[in-house]
Amino acid sequence: MKKKTPSNSEEKVLRGIGVSPGIVIGKTVPLERQRTTFIHRRVSAEEVTSEIKRFEAAIEKSKGQLEEVKQQILEKGFKQHSYILDVHLKVMEDRMLRDETIKMIKTQLVNTEWALKVTLDKISEAFDAIEDEYLRERKEDINHVVERILRNLIGRELRKVGDLEGDVIIVAHDLSPADTIQLNLQRVIGFVTDMGGKTSHTAIVSRSLEIPAIVGLEDITAYVGGGETIIVDGTEGVVIVDPSRETIKAYQVKQHHYRYLERELLKYSALTAETQDGHHLTLQANIELIEEIPAVIQYGAEGIGLYRTEYLYLNRKTLPDEEEHFQIYKRLTEEIAPYPVTIRTLDLGGDKFASHIELADQVNPAMGLRAIRFCLMEQDIFKAQLRGILRASTYGKVKILLPMISGVEELREVKAILEDAKNELRGSGFAFDPEIPLGVMIEIPSAAITADILAREVDFFSIGTNDLIQYSLAIDRVNKYVSYLYEPLHPAIVRHIKGVVELAHEEGIEAGICGEMAADPLYTLIFLGLGLDELSMHPLAIPRVKKVLRRSTRTEGENLLKEILQFTTAKETEVFIRNEMAERFPEDFIQCMQ
Ligand code: PEP
Ligand code: MG
Repeated sequence: MKKKTPSNSEEKVLRGIGVSPGIVIGKTVPLERQRTTFIHRRVSAEEVTSEIKRFEAAIEKSKGQLEEVKQQILEKGFKQHSYILDVHLKVMEDRMLRDETIKMIKTQLVNTEWALKVTLDKISEAFDAIEDEYLRERKEDINHVVERILRNLIGRELRKVGDLEGDVIIVAHDLSPADTIQLNLQRVIGFVTDMGGKTSHTAIVSRSLEIPAIVGLEDITAYVGGGETIIVDGTEGVVIVDPSRETIKAYQVKQHHYRYLERELLKYSALTAETQDGHHLTLQANIELIEEIPAVIQYGAEGIGLYRTEYLYLNRKTLPDEEEHFQIYKRLTEEIAPYPVTIRTLDLGGDKFASHIELADQVNPAMGLRAIRFCLMEQDIFKAQLRGILRASTYGKVKILLPMISGVEELREVKAILEDAKNELRGSGFAFDPEIPLGVMIEIPSAAITADILAREVDFFSIGTNDLIQYSLAIDRVNKYVSYLYEPLHPAIVRHIKGVVELAHEEGIEAGICGEMAADPLYTLIFLGLGLDELSMHPLAIPRVKKVLRRSTRTEGENLLKEILQFTTAKETEVFIRNEMAERFPEDFIQCMQ
């Protein structure tokens, strides 16, 4: 949610969606002060032919410009973005856009600009009905194409950044990916826009160009006339217009830290996750969206340890069918190969809801019908997902992970359904990996305590500390009143993890952690001591954790753990580990990681 909070009488603080991290301070350049507007004009019957010609010429010019930008992209080595231009070129050729506009000019005797607007409104309406975030943002692609045609119709060129002095931050109502790349990128240090969302192409492009960007600011263009100083904190999604000298200073310090972290830590991305005494700990990534794959690769993850599939079900009116599941998982599997992808089956309920799946009102949803319990009740929904996963398993290494397993009976029920799904696929002639590994999340205390029983019937464990803490300490993870009790280092949690890893190893299977704890480098040495085989985390966190690993030995971790096991409270452990880490990594733990 956007929030304006004047932290000082002059400066304005705006919040949006930070889509490309980093901090920049610079002068603003508004890209399009006035939006191109659609003027309405009636045309005579004789003018119709020339009006259509004008429309076609504008389309041809737009196509030429896009081809040119595509060429530039290829020359600059951003080949992966050229497909966006292909999408835009396809939209230019879209029959509905073209034919409807021409029909409108002919039948309604209106000018091209107006006919184009009416057609655009019709297409937008069709998109609005879909209600899927990804598709909604594809509507933006059509808007960008129409905007370009319009600019060419009225002969307005995109403002050139080339003749401005110094580094600039582009402020725009919206920015198409083609516009983004067309700008003189040598001079542009940041982007801020009124429109846009997390998965918009502009967001993806700015991320891979590594230019800090914030979208969805709603009305930043209203605050900026051009030439003001602004601070863009793409990591936090905060923009400060006309910052005070103190604020600039504070952000310069932050920027310094950020750059240090980036430079220093990125070096670790390409290195192996190995301790000085040669112990390898697999570091993987947690993702929610397929668009995160480039970051997974960039930050040196050895595969995906947790793909949260809930996002496939959210904000839409229909359920994803087997084919949709299959297509997404196949893409994911192929793009992450040769590394594995761990697909977690639907974990809906609790604090995650889908608009179309009606979960009965529950007094205590976290302990109610959620995750595997819901899937066992709605087996058709579950089977569609399982079949999709199975079919994708021939395209690389795929693992299935079950959320919220409380005991072996639930697991056996799932295994029976999985067998059914395999038989159905065999019957229909679909290929799949018959040995596809099956694992369970250990996030309910009963599962942790019976881990030996579960370990005999699965291929791996993934400890979900977010929920394990919630259920072990009886603290609602989204209730701010009890958040002070949410203690990852509580002796109960340390003992749970220790017990689960030991039982897993006794039965010859691996155990990892995919809860938020895995991403905190403060705990890395403890996990090393506990003997975990895998840690899965947000991709950005991987270099930090790798750094700690590469500068330590497993024996150090084991020795630290011995001391930690003596403590009786989370506070004692926390103070101890903070001091230890600050001593070992003063540059990181004192200044940068707090
Ligand atoms: C967890 O509970 O630790 C976990 C990784 O799952 P989620 O956060 O999706 O519930
Ligand atoms: Mg969980």
